[in-house]
Amino acid sequence: MFSVVGVCEMTILKSYNDEYGDVNVVIEALRALLGDKLVTSAAVRKQHGGGELTYHKAQSPDAVAFAQSTEQVAEIVKICAQYKMPIVPYGAGSSLEGHIVALKGGICIDLSEMTQVVELHAEDLDVTVQAGVTRQELNVYLRDTGLFFPIDPGAEATLAGMAATRASGTNAVRYGTMRDNVVNMTVVMPTGEIVKTGGRAKKSSAGYDLARLLIGSEGTLGIITELTLKLYGIPEKILSAVCSFESIEQACEAVILTIQAGVPVARIELLDELQVQACNAYSKLDLAVKPTLFLEFHGTENGCQEQVEMFKDIADEFGSDDFKAASSAEDRNKLWKARHDAYWAGCDMALGLAHLSTDVCVPISNFAKAVVETQQDVVDSGLMGPIVGHAGDGNFHVLLSFDESSADDMEKVKTFLDRLAARALAYEGTCTGEHGIGIGKAKYMRGEHGAGLDFMFAIKQALDPDNIMNPGKIFYS
Ligand SMILES: Cc1cc2nc3c(=O)[nH]c(=O)nc-3n(C[C@H](O)[C@H](O)[C@H](O)COP(=O)(O)OP(=O)(O)OC[C@H]3O[C@@H](n4cnc5c(N)ncnc54)[C@H](O)[C@@H]3O)c2cc1C
Repeated sequence: MFSVVGVCEMTILKSYNDEYGDVNVVIEALRALLGDKLVTSAAVRKQHGGGELTYHKAQSPDAVAFAQSTEQVAEIVKICAQYKMPIVPYGAGSSLEGHIVALKGGICIDLSEMTQVVELHAEDLDVTVQAGVTRQELNVYLRDTGLFFPIDPGAEATLAGMAATRASGTNAVRYGTMRDNVVNMTVVMPTGEIVKTGGRAKKSSAGYDLARLLIGSEGTLGIITELTLKLYGIPEKILSAVCSFESIEQACEAVILTIQAGVPVARIELLDELQVQACNAYSKLDLAVKPTLFLEFHGTENGCQEQVEMFKDIADEFGSDDFKAASSAEDRNKLWKARHDAYWAGCDMALGLAHLSTDVCVPISNFAKAVVETQQDVVDSGLMGPIVGHAGDGNFHVLLSFDESSADDMEKVKTFLDRLAARALAYEGTCTGEHGIGIGKAKYMRGEHGAGLDFMFAIKQALDPDNIMNPGKIFYS
């Protein structure tokens, strides 16, 4: 069993005084700027205060500003900076760790109406979009160009929100995360100044990498208003496959060997028995209730076939005897729709209970141990928690279902989450591979980063001395 001492110790940092200005004055000034794009109705404020997808208590902002352009965001931020008013940037609100809860009230800046594709440079394989464009919208726009943007968090998220949480998803094993796929960004800093983090060159050695600093900053350092993203050619051939194993260890060993052998799989996802059961019921599948891998291969016709053969040999070696490939778009879509619906399938299996999705990530060589021990921990805790993992990255999710009104259940959840983070760190991993910190994982930051956390906080204080940008997140302030 892993000791949680030190891992979830409170992050005591030099505090801001957190005295903010008069919100009514700010609302008046913003109304003059934005007219009916500044909304103070209780319903809209509540919708922007988080709570639906997170187990953290929702807290509404005082007003929601629906921004239309970079320049307008800059004007809004200048007013908030002048009156020391908290700002919570908002994309689609799909984050899971209480990222958008307005802990100190203030102004939520909703960027979802900034939906223009600004410039496509097909020959350079990049595109510049406004903050509120979603991944699906971008791929619909690109449909006739032969190009696509691969990062797929499985939720309807905005591309700026994805950059702000350093998101990834099922195909990160082949295409990387948002960290690897943002070329540059336009950002409104806490002063209201507009900064462009770089050009469109494929690489640069020109000073500090501000884009990488802002990616994953969860709205605590600035507001991303535009992003230039890398694009990829749609593969000539896409094949999907599914196969099951007698044990989680065997499935994980097959994944490890696949990665070590350099098979360039585009997706390799692990579902444990409980998750398969949930997907069978929810998505009308008839998969064997065993640890199962969902795979996708991208390449030329021959290249895909070669990858499939290589993987099949590996799967055979670890005792899988039901490898099934699907090349028709209909079969592929059915399989991946079921994978994308895994969260809802897990919720559906435990109707009437509250749900919480969490993630950790470990080096791939420790993946099997981390998953097996977590599965046992779920059982020992008396909780329900199917596991689904982006196995090629060593990243896995547990969807816990529990009775929110039961103090006993809440304690079980809390201690389970602490042990999960401790286990990931003991295996040289991270308390979150893709969901981010928000409120929920702030207590693990010291355990993961040690003194590094103080340097992160020094950056935060230097850029946002009045703590107006999404206060109360990432650091306990
Ligand atoms: C069913 C389900 C499955 C999911 N699966 C995955 C997954 O596989 N991988 C994954 O990575 N995530 C996953 N998520 C989490 C979520 O989709 C991501 O965190 C996503 O990147 C959030 O984008 P958003 O537009 O909804 O941002 P929001 O939730 O609106 O905001 C997220 C954070 O970013 C900040 N922010 C938003 N916009 C900006 C901006 N323009 N500038 C600066 N800061 C900003 C906010 O202040 C907040 O801190 C899942 C969520 C759900 C509901």
